[in-house]
Amino acid sequence: MSIKDKPQPSRNRQIANILFLLATVFLTANLILPSLFGSQIPRVPYSLFIDQVQDGEVARASVGQNEIRYQLKGEENQPAQVFSTTPIFDLELPKRLEDNGVEFAAVPPPKNNWFTSLLGWVIPPLIFVAIWQFFIGRAGGVGGPQGALSINKSKAKVYVEGESTKVTFDDVAGVEEAKTELVEIVEFLKNPQRFTSIGARIPKGVLLVGPPGTGKTLMAKAVAGEAGVAFFSISGSEFVELFVGAGAARVRDLFEQAKKKAPCIIFIDELDAIGKSRASAGFYGGNDEREQTLNQLLTEMDGFAAGDATVIVLAATNRPETLDPALLRPGRFDRQVLVDRPDLAGRLKILEIYAQKVKLGSDIDLKAIATRTPGFAGADLANLVNEAALLAARARRETVAQADFAEAIERVVAGLEKKSRVLNDKEKKIVAYHEVGHALVGALMPGGSKVAKISIVPRGMAALGYTLQLPTEDRFLMDEGELRGQIATLLGGRAAEEIVFGSITTGAANDLQRATDLAERMVTTYGMSKVLGPLAYEKGQQNNFLGDGMMNPRRMVSDETAKAIDDEVKDIVETAHHQALTILNQNRELLEKIAQLILETEVIEGDELQKLLGEVNRSENVPATV
Ligand code: ADP
Ligand code: MG
Ligand code: ZN
Repeated sequence: MSIKDKPQPSRNRQIANILFLLATVFLTANLILPSLFGSQIPRVPYSLFIDQVQDGEVARASVGQNEIRYQLKGEENQPAQVFSTTPIFDLELPKRLEDNGVEFAAVPPPKNNWFTSLLGWVIPPLIFVAIWQFFIGRAGGVGGPQGALSINKSKAKVYVEGESTKVTFDDVAGVEEAKTELVEIVEFLKNPQRFTSIGARIPKGVLLVGPPGTGKTLMAKAVAGEAGVAFFSISGSEFVELFVGAGAARVRDLFEQAKKKAPCIIFIDELDAIGKSRASAGFYGGNDEREQTLNQLLTEMDGFAAGDATVIVLAATNRPETLDPALLRPGRFDRQVLVDRPDLAGRLKILEIYAQKVKLGSDIDLKAIATRTPGFAGADLANLVNEAALLAARARRETVAQADFAEAIERVVAGLEKKSRVLNDKEKKIVAYHEVGHALVGALMPGGSKVAKISIVPRGMAALGYTLQLPTEDRFLMDEGELRGQIATLLGGRAAEEIVFGSITTGAANDLQRATDLAERMVTTYGMSKVLGPLAYEKGQQNNFLGDGMMNPRRMVSDETAKAIDDEVKDIVETAHHQALTILNQNRELLEKIAQLILETEVIEGDELQKLLGEVNRSENVPATV
């Protein structure tokens, strides 16, 4: 994409140029020129001058405050040489000169150069004006006349089709519903009669909603590439300026420009930067600037009536719950398109797009990679392919192998290997048992995905070792048993430490955090507690105006209920803990065997691991849930 409307060289720039020129002239006139010419007069020590005076060699002298210039008596028709010296405080000097017959005079006070003094008067105010202009420029010429001081061009970039790097809908995959929706809009812009002839009206505003990295911005670029109309793109944060009113002016200007170029598309990325609910702003004492910008946007969107110029406003956000309800009203962003994380088939398609750009080995199974990456957004997958290619390049291989992808997935899921973090033998032993504890419980409990690897090589920010569980399929729902299974798996590490060493280390902190969070969500969000019933104690973000985590996210509950919630959470975690202990006690020998093995090899994975985990004792199964 390239930018068509080159920004006009602003007045600021011109003024800055003029100032620069003036400053250069000023400096040349005052500093450089005098020193250039002045440097041709040889300078001598004062004592030499006095000696020459007393020897009667000096013809005439001109005595200034900072400099004495003098001429020696030369031969008749030969230009006498001029010297200069720096005087010291010498009251005797006039007398001495007189005694030795030197013709002398004081230098007249420096004649004020009219040019210099003019510059002295003109330059400071100019600098002041320039600074002023700079700030006015940032403010976008609030309310000012469209004259010298108003620079309120919006920062929107205009994209036009026909660029070499054009993004098309083919570059976007795995978000089919959203694509269909946008293809329809492009269709409308290209061929409006087809819609208007049967009286259909195209939505004025389309809001792309979805988690980060799922391709919202990419899709908007694809619309720009395919629509064949002018495409204004601006990010919500660019509206928000230091000065109140600037954002609003910018919105007004953007829509003005757009209407001139209609039919066209305006794309506002990260709409939440201006579209935050006005109610939530009140808590911080309000944000006037954002509010005015939002109001202006609302006005503009209402402004162009149906049948008027076709301007379609496209916007993207990953926080739709924080948006002001007024924005979502019919006639504004009345159509919301969900751009969600891709499912298995979608991930496969995205991987195919990016795999084209790297050289793949013969053993590559993209389907297997897609299966192992649920929850990855498009951006994650693009990154994954690149990461795998980097690994192959580092190993100086010609093509990317499946193993590179496996390692790349691990890097994303668990972080980078940290060989530098050296554990002592005792720590290593604890980590080994801890991880095998996770693996054994995970292998037995429902809900855990397949245990694919156990490693005691430190990785990422904090993990000293890790157990990699990879899902075998996409899951959209979890039942209570599976959640409890996950909690038990999380506690498996600590349970193993308790059984083997009889003591507890700090290593399980993160496990406990996650287990407790999960248990709390079971009670307060999923209504899975028999005691508390199917109530949502967690406030959905929609109802929680101070969604920035400034307020207790919980519904107002009585003290008894709060206590009951705590009790239930504790009960779930303790039950899971108990389950984990039971499983590990039943499989004590296996725990020992795998732990010893991993202490030697550091990593166990693949068939070897599956065979070992296959030995797990399932006979006397675990006490069921409460
Ligand atoms: P968002 O705006 O939703 O946060 P982006 O559109 O900026 O995400 O996505 C970032 C990058 O990730 C894109 O430039 C593209 O390379 C890749 N990407 C994301 N989603 C997809 C997708 N659905 N198909 C192909 N590539 C994608
Ligand atoms: Mg984006
Ligand atoms: Zn752990």
